[in-house]
Amino acid sequence: MRRTAKATGAARAGSERKAGSSRHPNRRPDASKPDPRAPPVSDAAARLQPAGLPQTELAPGLYLVATPIGNLGDITLRALAVLQGADRIFCEDTRVTGKLLARYGISRSLAAYHDHNAEQMRPIVLTALRRGERVALVSDAGTPLVSDPGYKLVRAALAEDLPITAIPGPNAAVTALILSGLSPDAFLFAGFLPPRQAARRRALARWAAVEATLVFYESTPRLAESLADMAEVLGNREAAVARELTKLHEEARRGRLTDIAAHYRLAGPPRGEAVVVVAPPECREPDQTEVDERLRAALAELGVRQAASKLAAETGMPRGELYRRALAMRDGEK
Ligand code: SAM
Repeated sequence: MRRTAKATGAARAGSERKAGSSRHPNRRPDASKPDPRAPPVSDAAARLQPAGLPQTELAPGLYLVATPIGNLGDITLRALAVLQGADRIFCEDTRVTGKLLARYGISRSLAAYHDHNAEQMRPIVLTALRRGERVALVSDAGTPLVSDPGYKLVRAALAEDLPITAIPGPNAAVTALILSGLSPDAFLFAGFLPPRQAARRRALARWAAVEATLVFYESTPRLAESLADMAEVLGNREAAVARELTKLHEEARRGRLTDIAAHYRLAGPPRGEAVVVVAPPECREPDQTEVDERLRAALAELGVRQAASKLAAETGMPRGELYRRALAMRDGEK
C-alpha cells in the first residue's frame, strides 16, 4: 500500500491505526474495548520516553489527572508520567483504570475512590498525603471533579495545606462546546439536570436569563424529553448534541432545540454518551406579534408576573414592559 505523508506521520506519532484502514480521525481503540491490533504495551511506553517525558522524581502531593473520554490516544505525556511515578492511584473503577494503565505498560497500586466509599477512603488518602506520598486521583473518564468524585478530597487537602496540582486533559463539556458551533466566548457548565421533569424545568428556569452558552451532561435515554423541556423553558434556541466524542461514532447534531428533540423522539434514544450545548438567549427583540403569542402561551400556565418574568428571561426584553402587556392581554385588550 502506498502511504501518504499524512498517514506516515500519524503512524510515526504512535497511532494504532492499521495501515489501509479508514482515515477516520477517531479510529482508535476506546476505553471500553482494548484494541487487539495495538502494539505491545512496552513498545507504547518506550515510544513515549524520547518524546520528552520528564524523568525527574515526582514531588509529594495530590495529582488530579485527566484521562481520555473514549479515545485512549488522548492521554497526555504528563498524565502518563504522573501515573507511572505515583505511589498509588485512586480511581472510580479499578477495572477501567487498570485497562488504561495496562495499555501504556504502567503497573501501579490502584484503589477505588468513588461516590459510595469516598467518606471512608478520604482519610486514607489524606494520611498518605501527610506521609509525603505521591497520590494520583483519576475518574473513569475525563477530568476528575467535573461531575465526578474528588471535590471534597480537594477541599480536605487544602484545609491541611497539603500540596495539590492538576494535570489537565480531556473533558467532554469543553470538547462539545468547541464542536457545537455555538459561541465559546462565555459559557456556563451546568452538569447534569435533575431526572424528574418538574425539578428539571425549575433548574432550567434558573439558567434561562444567563447570557452565556449553556452546557449540560445528559443521559441518552433522557435526551428527547430534556431537549423538549429546554425548548419550553429556554425558548427554541440554537443547540447541539455532541455524542460519543473522540470515539469512532462521534456525532454532533446541530439545529433548533425543538428539531433536535423531535429527531430523538422519532429515532429513539441514541447509544453512548452525550453533551447538550445551548446558545445564549437571543438578543434580537421579537416583534409584537411574536411577543403576544409567547405571552399568551405563558399566560395559559402562569400568572401575569411569572409570564412576564419568563419572557423577559428568554428574550432579554424589559420585564416591566412585558408585565404591562401581559396585564392588558389578561384584561382582554386584545
Ligand atoms: N469528568 C468527565 C469529564 O471531564 O467530561 C465527565 C464525567 S460524567 C460522570 C459523564 C458524562 O459526561 C456523560 O454522561 C456525558 O454527558 C459526558 N461524556 C463523557 N464522555 C463523553 C463522550 N465521549 N461523548 C459525549 N459525552 C461524554
